[in-house]
Amino acid sequence: MVKRRIEGSRAIVTGASSGIGRALAVELARAGAKLVVTARREDRLATLAEQIRAEGGAVATVVGDVTDPVVRQRLVDTARESYGGLDLLVNNAGVGAMGRFKDATADRLRTIMEVNFFAPAELTRLALPLLREGTGSMIVNISSILGLRGVPYNSEYCAAKFAVQGLSESLRTELIRDGIDVLVVSPGTTETEFFDKVIEKTASPAWPEHKPVSAEVVAQQTVRAIRRGRHAIIPYRWGKVFHWLQRLSPSLVDRLMTRYA
Ligand code: NDP
Repeated sequence: MVKRRIEGSRAIVTGASSGIGRALAVELARAGAKLVVTARREDRLATLAEQIRAEGGAVATVVGDVTDPVVRQRLVDTARESYGGLDLLVNNAGVGAMGRFKDATADRLRTIMEVNFFAPAELTRLALPLLREGTGSMIVNISSILGLRGVPYNSEYCAAKFAVQGLSESLRTELIRDGIDVLVVSPGTTETEFFDKVIEKTASPAWPEHKPVSAEVVAQQTVRAIRRGRHAIIPYRWGKVFHWLQRLSPSLVDRLMTRYA
């Protein structure tokens, strides 16, 4: 069943200072990957690096904003200089916003698209030459269940995550002959700092509460999917139900969503 060996592979993980990215970095390092981790919070990255090294792993840190082209170039350069190449690119850094589209500014849409879509797209473009030379190379894009179904009060975030899904599908077919695979992870509600870090919250829908999963569970399922060469996973039971309902009857989901708009 194992298609890809993680041991000895060289990986970049964005958004590694907290939540899913941090848990993924720890899981990948435990599985024997050599890491380049990045985020803006230097202290958080330093603590992560300490933990990984204490467990015998290899890690280099790049502090900065993933929307900055200079930072993205440093990530690729660091993988080449530290490990001689790259086999796994994990585009995980992301941020949300909540409220009606009509009440939001153009800046909110632009920021959400910059962090969640343009940054991973351009980091992918920069990393392609190294990934092409890698072994069992894979791009792992952390999208969202909201990249499979639009919901009210999250229009910019949904648009950005749908864009990630489309880019990933296109690249999977384009890159197959270069030996580069693409996995899209679409988490549902996950217990992280995400909801405290939204760039704006003017209103939020009164969804029924569903128990969140931990970042560790998402990370473990993602690592298993990388190993098995999966192309898409939804590491959340309610997310799977939601997705199937959407495929079965989009108009029914429209009616359900309208109740919360
Ligand atoms: P967190 O807020 O815990 O983590 C987000 C990470 O992204 C942090 O490490 C943060 O680091 C980094 N980040 C955000 N903006 C930037 C930026 N401009 N430049 C560099 N790094 C940045 O949230 P999650 O772990 O939940 O989010 C990880 C991914 O999972 C995101 O793509 C999110 O959309 C997705 N997701 C999350 C869900 C959830 O319920 N939590 C559900 C579905 C998808 P720092 O602030 O230090 O820069």
